[in-house]
Amino acid sequence: MGGVWSQLVGQPDAVEVLSAAAQSGARLVDGTGTAAGMTHAWLFTGPPGSGRSVAARAFAAALQCTAGQEVPGCGECQGCHTAMGGTHADVRMVVPEGLTISVSEMRALVQTSARRPTGGRWQVVIITDADRLTEGAANALLKAVEEPPPRTVFLLCAPSDHPDDVSVTIRSRCRRIALRTPAADAISEVLRLRDGIDADTANWAASVCGGHVGRARRLATDPAARDRREKVLKIPLQLRRMTDVFDAAGELVKAAEADATEVSETRDEAEKDALRTAMGHGGTGKGTASASRGSAGAIKELEKRQKSRATRTKRDVLDLALVDLAGFYRDVLVVHAGSNTTLNHPDHADSAARAAQNWSPESALRRLEAVLGCREALEQNVKPQIAIEAMVAVLYSG
Ligand SMILES: [Zn+2]
Repeated sequence: MGGVWSQLVGQPDAVEVLSAAAQSGARLVDGTGTAAGMTHAWLFTGPPGSGRSVAARAFAAALQCTAGQEVPGCGECQGCHTAMGGTHADVRMVVPEGLTISVSEMRALVQTSARRPTGGRWQVVIITDADRLTEGAANALLKAVEEPPPRTVFLLCAPSDHPDDVSVTIRSRCRRIALRTPAADAISEVLRLRDGIDADTANWAASVCGGHVGRARRLATDPAARDRREKVLKIPLQLRRMTDVFDAAGELVKAAEADATEVSETRDEAEKDALRTAMGHGGTGKGTASASRGSAGAIKELEKRQKSRATRTKRDVLDLALVDLAGFYRDVLVVHAGSNTTLNHPDHADSAARAAQNWSPESALRRLEAVLGCREALEQNVKPQIAIEAMVAVLYSG
């Protein structure tokens, strides 16, 4: 299926349900149908990289599509375009800037979502990390989800519908769309057709990305990302003496910091420029003085948000490296088992085979567990340097 649905890589079941719902939605807006088939609250779940927020955005676009009720989500009309591009007046996307979404943020959002849609179709609110809602924010959201205004749709995204991610009460109000890890050939296809990447690179990136489409695209297009992955995957066989542990740990943390800084700086500057422009910075007319005072405050506020987001970016980047490492140890166990399951890192099959010769399965498993334990520690705010050093020490001793 084309249009906005082509963004949902390897998710035919989700596309079927969502496009049918968008059709019902269109009939309802046009006054030729009932509310059957359309729901006011949706929960998109799936592993990282399966495209939860992409799916939510595509659905939002289909709801705003003006191409007619037979094929909502044409991808061509103004509604589709602005919704996909993030500028549609009736589509709000909440990306928690820090580690959680605050109560005040959520209250403000619930209030605006109750307004009538300016375009006459739907007010759509996308919450990309519903698992990062505080209890207070979740309660504010629950009220809105329980009694939704007639033309408001909430699209929540979370890793799973487990109570740790989404409260049972909110879960019970939502229709669930479960996305799965897309297959390598579906990812390769989208890299080739959508991003114009050559077949060899696309196949390679799809085979090593762990089902994460965004990661595949980054690996295919960014030499620095490829380089960092290589460095991470060299660590397991590089640890020969105790001092290597600290070098490797330091390197891992430093690489994550560099990567995160690169991502953050570009984004931060663009946001600051946009804010300055929006606040009429540099003007000389009447009221300029008070406007500058206001904008200084707003910029300070923005910087505060950016700082807390940078912390999260650093953590996310580090986590990505840990996922790669865990994949390597899993590969070693796959080799041990003599299984022909697809490897996480087929391009490092030699290293995995060599490691399998040197380590017992128990020892490889202990290493894998150390990586997973480190991910958990970081999730619980243990200082990265400390968590990583503890992990690498086990990677060394086995
Ligand atoms: Zn359209």
